[in-house]
Amino acid sequence: MSNTTTLQLEVEKAKTSKINEVDFDNLAFGSVFTDHMFICDYVNGEWKTPKIIPYQSLVIDPSARVFHYGQAVFEGMKAYKDDNDQIWLFRPKDNFDRINKSSKRMAMPEFPEEYFFEGLKTLLNLDKDWIKKGLGNSLYIRPFVIASEPGVMASPAEEYKFIIICAPAQAYYGGEVRVKIADHYSRAASGGVGAAKTAGNYAAQFYPTKLAKEEGFQQVVWTDANTHEYLEEAGTMNVFFRIGDKLLTAPTNDRILDGITRKSVIEIAKDKGIDVEIRPVKVNEIVEAAKKGNLKEIFGSGTAAVITPVVGFGYKDKKWDLPKLTDAYSSVIKEAILNIQYNKSEDKYGWRYKA
Ligand SMILES: *Cc1c(COP(=O)(O)O)cnc(C)c1O
Repeated sequence: MSNTTTLQLEVEKAKTSKINEVDFDNLAFGSVFTDHMFICDYVNGEWKTPKIIPYQSLVIDPSARVFHYGQAVFEGMKAYKDDNDQIWLFRPKDNFDRINKSSKRMAMPEFPEEYFFEGLKTLLNLDKDWIKKGLGNSLYIRPFVIASEPGVMASPAEEYKFIIICAPAQAYYGGEVRVKIADHYSRAASGGVGAAKTAGNYAAQFYPTKLAKEEGFQQVVWTDANTHEYLEEAGTMNVFFRIGDKLLTAPTNDRILDGITRKSVIEIAKDKGIDVEIRPVKVNEIVEAAKKGNLKEIFGSGTAAVITPVVGFGYKDKKWDLPKLTDAYSSVIKEAILNIQYNKSEDKYGWRYKA
């Protein structure tokens, strides 16, 4: 018996490419997809032959569990092209580990590492012309898993689909961001699924976020569901606060998504000599610091925008503006991360991965 497995990956190429129809200078985030997709079915207790096929619609029974009970997990990652046309990923093993962690929490089967990496690399190389060079341009990669087995019985499915689709993306700029600190709604509860990247967490956020938008904010800063006294995440990003010269962020727990950008921000900040404290951060502490003029920055971290600076926040009936800094931690750290992602600087951490 041999331990070496030769991965069977079936590739069906698209007959024609849509690439000439795409205006790469005017891309709405996540709305245009490349020519191919990766797909693998889980049936009878095992993952079948993974395939790359032309991007297409799925045929799924309307009774499939995903539509009724939300058995669905996903990831968000990016591919970058350097000046020599080499394609790079950023800490992809962490995305792979996390999708399996999310799957486990949702009673879904874990996916084999070899299938993921071979499938992803083959897909990226097939659709490499969709990855444009230049700082800010990238290919957004969306791996996801759905419960496809027909039947509305409330139990975990026995059939799943693991799929990867890709969307070309430009530098993400959503305009100025003001956040509202939640004092009623929450996105996650202790013992719940907040730490899993599962579809329902997003669905649950839409309504409170819509209310915040009506009040002139773009995102909600989520607080702990029990007391609403501790700051946890900003929208769908992890969140950092700078008081004086100290950078604060909450420790991960089962209500907070363990963001790869968050981990990278912490490591880079420490390396730059910034005093980073990872501990529960109280709403009161931030409000008091804002009153005294010590609150210098709030920013979110996540793959889509790397870092999103916040220009102001609201809590209950009050609003505060944050100062405009020329030497913001958010810009220094963002630049360091981008330089690693685009192969513009040395990567002493080993985060860059050749696709
Ligand atoms: C995906 C996600 C993040 C950011 O994770 P990254 O790995 O940095 O992209 C943060 N919070 C939530 C709720 C998320 O879903």
